Amino acid sequence: MTISDDNSLLMIPGPIQPEKQVLAEMGKPVRVHYGPEFTQIYKETIAMLKPVFGTQQADVFLLVGPGTAGNDAAIGSALSSGEKIIVGVNGFFGERLKLIAENYNLQVITVASAWGTPLDPQSFADAIRSHPDAKAIAVVHLETSTTILNPIVEIGQLAKQHGLLYIVDAVSSLGSMAFDMDGWGIDLCVSATQKCLGALPGLAPIAVSPYAWEVIDRNPNKGHGFLLNLQTWRYYTNEWSDWHPFPITMTAHTVMALRAALISLQTEGIENRQERYRRLALRLREGLRRIGLPPFTPDDLMTPVITAGCAPQGVPAGKLVAYLSEEHHIKISTGLGPLRDTIFRIGHMSPILTETEIDWVIHALSKFQGV
Ligand SMILES: *Cc1c(COP(=O)(O)O)cnc(C)c1O
Repeated sequence: MTISDDNSLLMIPGPIQPEKQVLAEMGKPVRVHYGPEFTQIYKETIAMLKPVFGTQQADVFLLVGPGTAGNDAAIGSALSSGEKIIVGVNGFFGERLKLIAENYNLQVITVASAWGTPLDPQSFADAIRSHPDAKAIAVVHLETSTTILNPIVEIGQLAKQHGLLYIVDAVSSLGSMAFDMDGWGIDLCVSATQKCLGALPGLAPIAVSPYAWEVIDRNPNKGHGFLLNLQTWRYYTNEWSDWHPFPITMTAHTVMALRAALISLQTEGIENRQERYRRLALRLREGLRRIGLPPFTPDDLMTPVITAGCAPQGVPAGKLVAYLSEEHHIKISTGLGPLRDTIFRIGHMSPILTETEIDWVIHALSKFQGV
């Protein structure tokens, strides 16, 4: 059973409750974060991540920090103040990408859709036509705030047709669905360890394509500092390759935890894991329909790892969330922004979740009396 420190079932849209052997890594004595032994572990961990990203050609780094650090490094390393970037915005994390770009003094061209609807590739085509000087496109894959999956393959085709750098925030999707970074033309792909990768908060894996390096190396702007500059990470990977292939004290515990999570993923098989998640998502959606709290998204837009349900008419989602926490010790979450009151979100991105927990949350929701 998936019990957190206050004995509750953690089903928020990240962080997840990791598997026991992943948690166990965090309680082990501190180890030396350099030298041949740890360097080998670090490189093996990166090698295990590459098939999850769906890349053979990209360089992968484990930036220390939250997923946002990865998005910050991607945008800040590749673009110079004043350059134009087209950013897809249809939820909180799209807004966040936009803020990051604005804070680097980029000219941001926003391609928006309403919160709760997917981004429209045609709007990107229009934006590219109106802004032929744009350098990059940035989009969120799974918009965690609304549970909407964006059409990153179609948007990527446009980016490639027009020679634009393509940045994808896959923080809440990577690991849970088939992902083909190379085939989809993604140049900078960002994730985080506390969601579908099955580990704890603390690392932001980022994959950098050969074309991304071209763009980064062309960028004359050094305004983005040192730690979140991808050139810094490449430098240490190359120059200190055999003993300390990163620029800082690597958070060895979080690397060990990620490694344990990836071993579990490999052992189950990436496709088996993803199929298992899909089946659990279908079971949850079916259960929500049965108890009259139907899923917020249509089935053809379903995500395998986060499901939003519609709160009962006139009842703010916060009441349902509080009820589940207080009466059933299940932690789920409300919507965000304009959807805060109307949807509740259930995260099921942990490998320890089974039919039992899915049925438990449906049962608990079915007992809600409203008002
Ligand atoms: C969780 C999340 C982030 C932010 O991750 P942090 O680790 O909190 O910085 C970014 N984008 C998406 C899509 C997310 O779900």
